Amino acid sequence: MPAVGALLAMPDVQGLADHAPRSMVTDAVRAAVERARRDPAAVPSDNSGWFAMIRDELARREQASLRPVFNATGVVLHTNLGRAPLARVAVEAIARTAAGASNLEYDLARGERGSRYVHCASLLCELTGAEDALVVNNGAAALVLALNTLAEGRESIVSRGELIEIGGSFRVPDIMAKSGSILREVGTTNRTHADDYRRAIGERTGAIVKVHRSNFEVRGFVAEATLRDLSPIAREASLPLLMDLGSGLLVSLEAYGLRGEPTVRDAVHDGATLVVMSGDKLLGGPQAGILVGTREAIDRCRRNPLTRALRVDKLTLAALEATLSLYRDPERAVREIPVLALMTASRESIRARAEAAAGILRGAGIDCEVIASEAAVGGGAFPTARLASAAVAIIGKAVDVEQKLRLSPEPVIGRIADDRLLLDLRSIAADQDELFAAAVARALTG
Ligand SMILES: *Cc1c(COP(=O)(O)O)cnc(C)c1O
Repeated sequence: MPAVGALLAMPDVQGLADHAPRSMVTDAVRAAVERARRDPAAVPSDNSGWFAMIRDELARREQASLRPVFNATGVVLHTNLGRAPLARVAVEAIARTAAGASNLEYDLARGERGSRYVHCASLLCELTGAEDALVVNNGAAALVLALNTLAEGRESIVSRGELIEIGGSFRVPDIMAKSGSILREVGTTNRTHADDYRRAIGERTGAIVKVHRSNFEVRGFVAEATLRDLSPIAREASLPLLMDLGSGLLVSLEAYGLRGEPTVRDAVHDGATLVVMSGDKLLGGPQAGILVGTREAIDRCRRNPLTRALRVDKLTLAALEATLSLYRDPERAVREIPVLALMTASRESIRARAEAAAGILRGAGIDCEVIASEAAVGGGAFPTARLASAAVAIIGKAVDVEQKLRLSPEPVIGRIADDRLLLDLRSIAADQDELFAAAVARALTG
């Protein structure tokens, strides 16, 4: 086994220190020696073998923890893969805002201290019909803030059919408990009627809460009280009606065959006092929690000291404002907001993109074929919608192909079906196609 000092003295290894701190190069040399010691089969036979091993160790150490990947899973809004990719204007807005100072909390008209909460509020009102709006860190934070503001120490009436788990250890009953509101369950798993809510209203009631069943559907002998049913009941009892919508759908996608997901405007129109939604689900923007509702309810939330702890950052506001602006022209929104563009793209266009990618891969000597597949929206929205899609199926042992793609410098995440690794184009932005195909080719031929 060569000595660490001898390896460090090699000219090639010295060269590595031109681009990396010397201590990191030393650590990489030590790690290489250690690995060779543990695994005799890994001992390089010559100096160039040692150099390659040290270079790879160094590269591994230098790699960022948070890295871009290609989402070829066919799930458009993949929570584990960062949910919504941003529109170009949103990315540009982040870059502009990040690079310098901004009027984040400065009122330019008056030349004095302002509020960060003004920035997306009027746009949100314009797009949803609400009186006022407030943006915080994420959807769960918005729900905690809303419940804490409206019903701390008091009961929140919720249907048993809506005590849901969203995933990632987010359960509505737990969130409600942490908000300081007392859960008052009504109805049954499959059926809850307006009268169930009416009978539960009492001295201790703070709010009536509805939660959108984001990630599943119930069928069969079912009944639910809608916002429209509950709005007169809440009004009569002078109670706020809170709607956790989950996904913030701002334009109807029924023209594209996607039905069943309520729009924010519907929820406001149907009488919700406050509507809670995420910024990075169907809205297609950055991670954020958005509250829209009556002037009074939003004002109370804004003055809640919790708001400070849940506050939104300036880069999020920049990206959200740019994304929301696109919605002023709904056709432009569907074209330019990646989530909407991917969800509404025709099966034929996805197929053509898959054929083009397969052509590039075959050119690189990779055996593959294009097959029909089914993609999904994901992110707790349109849970039962199946989007007709197309995927490149890589010929070869699926687990090996999957691992090579996942561990490559530009990771590609696909899915395995029928013992084949599928790369679904429905969840890859069209302008990434060539980079995507090149990354797959490099990963499988390198
Ligand atoms: C996703 C979701 C949330 C949580 O939103 P995040 O932005 O992920 O924090 C809350 N409620 C419902 C109904 C959801 O679907």
